[in-house]
Amino acid sequence: MSDTRGTDATHPVRTLGPEADVLKAASFETLAIHGGFGPDEATGAVVPPIYTASTFAQDAVGQPHAGYEYGRTANPTRTRLEERLAVLENGQTAIAFPSGMAAGDAVLGTLCQPGDHVIIPNDVYGGTYRLVDKVLRRWGLSYGAAPLVDLDRVRELIRPGQTKLIWCETPTNPLLALADINALASLAHSEGALLVVDNTFASPYLQRPLDLGADIVVHSTTKYLAGHSDVIGGAVILRDDAIGDAIRFHQNSTGAVPSPFDAWLTLRGIQTLAVRVSQQSATALSLARTLTTHPAVERVYYPGLETHPNHELAARQMSKFGGMISFTLAGGEDAAIHVCNSVQIFTLAESLGAVESLISLPLQMTHASTSGSEFAPPANLVRLSVGLESAEDLTSDLIGALESIGG
Ligand code: PLP
Repeated sequence: MSDTRGTDATHPVRTLGPEADVLKAASFETLAIHGGFGPDEATGAVVPPIYTASTFAQDAVGQPHAGYEYGRTANPTRTRLEERLAVLENGQTAIAFPSGMAAGDAVLGTLCQPGDHVIIPNDVYGGTYRLVDKVLRRWGLSYGAAPLVDLDRVRELIRPGQTKLIWCETPTNPLLALADINALASLAHSEGALLVVDNTFASPYLQRPLDLGADIVVHSTTKYLAGHSDVIGGAVILRDDAIGDAIRFHQNSTGAVPSPFDAWLTLRGIQTLAVRVSQQSATALSLARTLTTHPAVERVYYPGLETHPNHELAARQMSKFGGMISFTLAGGEDAAIHVCNSVQIFTLAESLGAVESLISLPLQMTHASTSGSEFAPPANLVRLSVGLESAEDLTSDLIGALESIGG
């Protein structure tokens, strides 16, 4: 048996490096697997190593080193994740965080000061509402809320010189409302504010906010990007180096960094993002259509339905409509609770964007912190995160639960 170990300097390993011409015009599917970095330079490993080191040897005091000093500041596995995320959102810089909330907190904490004002959607994710209303308001940040698709309402809320950013979710969690990213970016910029888009629901496979004029993209990578309900993570992606450096400074100062293993798991999930979200979008559209025909269902919220008030905007801004559906029950809160408790393939759980289908009652689960406020979703609203089980099985599971209401 010949020994093939080691590197032959005259025949270097043939790798597809991040600068390869073939990647410049590559599609999303290809970039999700090859974008940002190639095989490991030291060994040719096609999967990046998990560098667990908390600290890195330095050649001499004051001498340049290989780019890493201490694991809070930077870690090579985390760098690989950041390189790939930057490519997928068509940004210049990505910064990985240990959760979506940590990412959002770093953006708001870096860009806002006491006395500043921000605008958020009136059905923003409950955790973002809690961060702004219960944490940052104590530090002197004020906010206004509106459906962000209504540009006149947003304009009325702007306080010239004081409004630092508009925080957009599109589609929103849980009402799947849309906002026109391009129009919001123009409005924000004309007032000297920035547009931040939480792109968690769409993922960069369906929507790239920076290309539409947004300044900063935020993700809960816990969801579609990682995609397997096995890691909590977040990310910030942007093009402006100065703001990127300021967010990195904030991160290094406050210490919210993801572990190397979490970065690796997220990278592993990202490679199949396109096939997962494509299939989830197809199944969700079919389920949403079925739900509209059932008498127990009052209203279906899904941007892929022609009846969605912003369907045309969704079709223009997104390449598919995603795997999230919400619907209200004609029988009210009790019927909604019954459906959540009766399904068998859908798992009753918070979170979204993974391979297994999840069902939840937002008002009592993900959005409990909004209860009693104008941000509270309807009590009879059920939210579905459509996974990768067969569309037929998911349909019969849901229909079975709907048919048994009042039974
Ligand atoms: N943004 C949206 C739209 C979310 O749905 C979530 C979590 O559900 C977050 C942000 C927060 O992310 P994480 O749970 O990773 O902190």
